[in-house]
Amino acid sequence: MRCMLCETLSFSHICKPCRREHLTPSLYTKTIASKVTVYSFYKYADIEMLLHTKHTPLGFYIYSILAHIAFKKFSDNFTFEHTVASLSIDDHTRSGYSHTAILNRALQSRTIMPYYGKMRAANAVTYSGKSHAFRLAHPRDFNYLHVKEDDVILVDDIITTGTTLSEAAHSVQREGKNLLFCLALAYVE
Ligand SMILES: [Zn+2]
Repeated sequence: MRCMLCETLSFSHICKPCRREHLTPSLYTKTIASKVTVYSFYKYADIEMLLHTKHTPLGFYIYSILAHIAFKKFSDNFTFEHTVASLSIDDHTRSGYSHTAILNRALQSRTIMPYYGKMRAANAVTYSGKSHAFRLAHPRDFNYLHVKEDDVILVDDIITTGTTLSEAAHSVQREGKNLLFCLALAYVE
């Protein structure tokens, strides 16, 4: 196959030199409601073409690569004193996979236990392209399902205004859980 970015022959959808040159993750921080910190690894504009593969068959491979480069590296370098639960937001399966579940799975480590299907919105409203006022007026009502760990991390792919993560954060905190932080693949400036 050919590398999606430079079109040279490659064993994977993104070749090793391109991964080093274009996809070395950073760690951006944003604070959302309830003083929760969201760490994200890329600027949306920098990897927009790759993010657009979401919900296509190619997206499975691209998200797996990004998960490996950013999320796995993060979990390799971040250990906790006891086991922490990581929950992927809205990890419904579309086109045969869930993009947020792929990111979440890459976090699995000695001290991070990924869970799936624990944080799904009851209201299927889409926020893409919608105003902040619209987002606030149409809450997504997350159904948070219980996990045994007291410390929780939330995982999403793209953070725009932070409304979705704030809502999800609130539903975790309402259950008396300690939300450590959120992780997102990319943030929109
Ligand atoms: Zn390349």
